[in-house]
Amino acid sequence: MQGYIIDIKPVKDDDLIVSILTEHEVMTTYRFYGARHSNINLGYKIDFELEITKSSIPRLKDVIQLGFPWILDNEKMYCWQRYIKLFYPHLKDIEHIDAFYFYSFENLVHIMIKQNALRAICESYISLIEYEGRLHNDFECLLCENKITQDISLVRGFLPVHANCAYSRGFELNKMKDLFEKKKVISFNDEEVEYLWNILLQGL
Ligand SMILES: [Zn+2]
Repeated sequence: MQGYIIDIKPVKDDDLIVSILTEHEVMTTYRFYGARHSNINLGYKIDFELEITKSSIPRLKDVIQLGFPWILDNEKMYCWQRYIKLFYPHLKDIEHIDAFYFYSFENLVHIMIKQNALRAICESYISLIEYEGRLHNDFECLLCENKITQDISLVRGFLPVHANCAYSRGFELNKMKDLFEKKKVISFNDEEVEYLWNILLQGL
């Protein structure tokens, strides 16, 4: 089986509870420290086997790390891990996970070979909220419910608000429309992309 590690929790004696997003589910597994598997880390893609034991959690075994071309790029890895981490609270209680999530990661790993990590992640995230049916491209303000015609800002979940209503940074409406329609951050400068990134980090 293959999947992405979206959460790691230390338990007793350096053992770990490892949560893995596969094509169709989030698997909660137990890794014994003594078993000396290959190195595992948040965000890694792994090939693995499960061993069913008497315990309620299957044991993780025969782990092989499937590397990315940029796995040694600290900055990319750091951004990737912060993004991936947000999926655990988002998906953990869902029994059947749509393959969209797994393939969205596959795609993002590939795009990040060439593209700036924050840009690639923000674009991937826009596709994700569209897929989940919560891309608010009607551009109505979450706070006052009026149409936004000029300075727009975003809050958690990329929900549109008037910059004035939220007392926050304003963007040109056309730029934001472009982002929501084309799923591209090309018209945003680096500092603006960083602003979007910080909104994203508040939670999916
Ligand atoms: Zn408003």
